[in-house]
Amino acid sequence: MNPLDTLDTLPFDNGFARLPEAFYTRLPPEGLPEPHLVAASPAAAALIGLNPAQFAHPDFAPSFAGNRLLPGSEPLAAVYSGHQFGMWAGQLGDGRAHLLGEVRGWEIQLKGAGQTPYSRFADGRAVLRSSIREFLCSEAMAALGVPTTRALAIVGSSAPVRRERVETAAVVTRLAPSFIRFGSFEHWLGKGDLERLRQLADYVIERYYPDCRASDAPYAALLEAVAQRTGELVAHWQAVGFMHGVLNTDNMSILGLTLDYGPYGFMDAFDPGHICNHSDDLGRYSYQAQPQIGHWNVYALTRALAPLIRDAARSRAALDSYTPAFEARFMALLRAKLGLAEAREEDVDLVGETYALLEQQKADYTRFFRALGRLPAHTDDPATSDAPLLDELPDRDAGARWIAHWRARVAAEGRPDAERQAAMNRANPCYVLRNWMAEGAIRAAEGGDFSEVHRLQDCLSDPYTARPPYAAYAALPPDWARHIAVSCSS
Ligand code: AMP
Ligand code: MG
Repeated sequence: MNPLDTLDTLPFDNGFARLPEAFYTRLPPEGLPEPHLVAASPAAAALIGLNPAQFAHPDFAPSFAGNRLLPGSEPLAAVYSGHQFGMWAGQLGDGRAHLLGEVRGWEIQLKGAGQTPYSRFADGRAVLRSSIREFLCSEAMAALGVPTTRALAIVGSSAPVRRERVETAAVVTRLAPSFIRFGSFEHWLGKGDLERLRQLADYVIERYYPDCRASDAPYAALLEAVAQRTGELVAHWQAVGFMHGVLNTDNMSILGLTLDYGPYGFMDAFDPGHICNHSDDLGRYSYQAQPQIGHWNVYALTRALAPLIRDAARSRAALDSYTPAFEARFMALLRAKLGLAEAREEDVDLVGETYALLEQQKADYTRFFRALGRLPAHTDDPATSDAPLLDELPDRDAGARWIAHWRARVAAEGRPDAERQAAMNRANPCYVLRNWMAEGAIRAAEGGDFSEVHRLQDCLSDPYTARPPYAAYAALPPDWARHIAVSCSS
């Protein structure tokens, strides 16, 4: 075990900055007036070996606002391109993100620390509202077991930022082994620069997919590995009821991580067509569209890597590995949610019936599965024993019919109830970051009170354990939550 580092002893080793300068622009972050700590994550600090006692150090907020350079960091903004809402958008890039470098295999990035050559006409800033949403959800997703970038801290400031209204600027510090995106590859395809494309692919294989080197076709092996990770990622989202909201190819991590939290949402009353992003009128990124969009995005990456693979059949086979990876992971996650230890072919039907019931009954997605864990495998008094689940459904008869099917399947395994129920409670969270919860924390924080951010952070750090002080977060959303509109504005 390494002794824990201070801000000034973090051992930076900056792999990305060793790539040629065509991949980025070196520049310092701009900094912000009156930086102050809003929240920090001890779990994220542990990843880079930073002593969490440093959160209280007077240099902490200035360091993660971009006012003070951490020794050993080499700040830069990376270039990438991408498809946005299905259209080629050309060059984008880190318009408001500075990569500081890498510590113990984790890149440290400041989001919102000022303009870069890739800002286009925007201000390089992030508002406190969106920084809180990104911070809380990154750490919540990690605790849920969903692959994601992480968040170390939010630093607030007094700098005004204009969006629909005037808000204040903040910086969220993100961690990930890499922030390379599908769009980082599309960028070089767009420019027709095969040399850079190959350099980037070689870097990603070397650093993150070393097993691919042993393949007789390393670039096809890379594509296949990314396709599989992406399929698995989307399976996690579907299973937990998460909607990303802006699944453009520039927001797709080459490591299969949830990346760029914007107008995301968690499903409340189940509606497969639900659109969490107010700006996505056509529902391109609705809940039910996500698996198909994941495939579309891997297709865009396939096109970008095709000049390196130079074998259409192998490119196609790599792309085709997305769907089985998605399906296998999705079924494994759903079996766990339903309390099934064995894989049987007929489970696909039970899962289909489960989603049909959820949709017909508009049941609360998270509460339904959590309640299911309370039902026994055998009962002589279903009206009593099954009440926790039936209470979640307006049509109790439809619920009882579904329970009969589920119960027969569960009983066939003969697993003791206590064991199955404990396993279900580890697969079905009690708490997810619903919009109304984030909204409450944001309103308080905008008034200078960060205690609700901290409460949510604590609650969501252990989402599978029901705790009495957090009972309200496990309840149905309040009525006003239906009117929350979350857009791309951030
Ligand atoms: P997003 O929709 O957040 O994934 O961002 C798409 C592109 O716009 C990326 O290149 C971002 O860096 C850039 N961008 C978004 N907001 C800002 C901002 N306030 N300032 C500069 N660039 C931005
Ligand atoms: Mg983005």
